[in-house]
Amino acid sequence: MRIFTASLATETNTFSPVPTDLNAFRAAFYAPPGQHPDTPTLCSSVVPILRQRGRAEGFTVIEGTSCWAEPAGLIQRAAYEHLRDEILGQLAAALPVDGVVLGLHGAMVAQGYDDPEGDFLERVRALCGPDVLIAAEFDPHSHLTARRLRNLDVMAAFLEFPHTDFEERGAHVVDLALRAIRGEIRPVISSFDCRMITIYPTSQAPMRGFVDRIAALQGRDGVLSVSVIHGFMAGDVPEMGTRIVVVTDNDPEKGAALARRLGHDLYRLRRQTAMPMLDTEAGLDRARAIRRGNPDRPVVIADVWDNPGGGVAGDATHVLRRMIERGQTNAGVATVWDPVAVGFAHAAGEGAELGLRIGGKSCAEGGEPLDLRIRVMRVLDEGWQSFRNSRVTLGRVAVVRVLDTELDIILITSRSQTYEPDIFANLGIDFAAKDYLLVKSTNHFQAGFAPVSSEIVYVSAPTSYPTDPATTPYRKASHDLWPRVPDPLGLDG
Ligand SMILES: [Zn+2]
Repeated sequence: MRIFTASLATETNTFSPVPTDLNAFRAAFYAPPGQHPDTPTLCSSVVPILRQRGRAEGFTVIEGTSCWAEPAGLIQRAAYEHLRDEILGQLAAALPVDGVVLGLHGAMVAQGYDDPEGDFLERVRALCGPDVLIAAEFDPHSHLTARRLRNLDVMAAFLEFPHTDFEERGAHVVDLALRAIRGEIRPVISSFDCRMITIYPTSQAPMRGFVDRIAALQGRDGVLSVSVIHGFMAGDVPEMGTRIVVVTDNDPEKGAALARRLGHDLYRLRRQTAMPMLDTEAGLDRARAIRRGNPDRPVVIADVWDNPGGGVAGDATHVLRRMIERGQTNAGVATVWDPVAVGFAHAAGEGAELGLRIGGKSCAEGGEPLDLRIRVMRVLDEGWQSFRNSRVTLGRVAVVRVLDTELDIILITSRSQTYEPDIFANLGIDFAAKDYLLVKSTNHFQAGFAPVSSEIVYVSAPTSYPTDPATTPYRKASHDLWPRVPDPLGLDG
């Protein structure tokens, strides 16, 4: 048995001011054949999992390139085509194979390509022919297109948001692919369009219960796998929206019925899934009140929409500016993306005091830059943080402290959302001693930060992220979706 595996992944926010080129992939994660580390990345866990299973079970695994760019704006056409053709060339050289297992994200958009993954899968299918099994793992913040479904035999997305199960779901996809190649199962994919878009954190009700229910359906009565494609509201493409995916053992009628039933149930929950958010003033008031009642642990303030993981730059200043003006400055800030400020801090050196212009450079929506007198506390050529078992680079970094305060700001060059508290500890910041931790992430930080904080306050401050799908000026996405229309499936009556 011969299996080819590779990973091509990023998430494209078509509203982001940050363009994506080849360099963005090389800077974030780029592993040529055979050089994928033993630890997985978010979208490439199928590669090390297959490598290990191939060794243990005695089949041949041919590794192609694995790469990932931090979510950002439209991918340069030549960059997408280069990476696509690199992997297709590796696959062509590996033929004949019995299966292809890919680590995708599913929300890429490139210049001239609204559905790069569909284009890529179609070309993989054309190379392999109809009889070779093609499987892929996706991030749920993706777009499910008919073109992908036509060319896939097996697919699953992470069930959890935060995506704490990305490795487990990679193993699940690999397992289904191997069983199908060995003739033990005949997977068939069914899907249902929920005609809506919102956010679905699984760390809280009602999504916690919904995902637990889905997990219990898998592996019994001919149901091999169930996924919710949450959709990605910052990607303006024709098939943007929430879908249910069910993979059955050759029972498409059952799969379609189950997908429809689950889709209707999720649709009925649509007004309740998003976490409650406050505006900046109310959020900072709330954080102060929580801190007064609980002096032992920091309060986490999430700048929900200035999340580089959703494709924006991560250099918005609204919340940080108000924290300084209000005197809520015994705080750690992870992070502000600012390559120029990092360069200045490195050039000045540790211990130097200087005036530094911080943030607010990528676009007008995130607020003006902050001009602060700071001391350079720490400079490093490569900072990093964990996300579960994976290691996420921050690029060249600097920690600066605003003079006459306890406010420590982590400045980064490789855009990344905040995942785990070790982002502070790795840079010598005693986060447990702070009153407030300002993080830039929608919900991925939740798994790591909940145990070390008294409470999490979700703040909705302005950025370039399109936060309200009811009013976002979509040009390609369907307008016949909730919340643009109240009841597109007609189930409210
Ligand atoms: Zn995601």
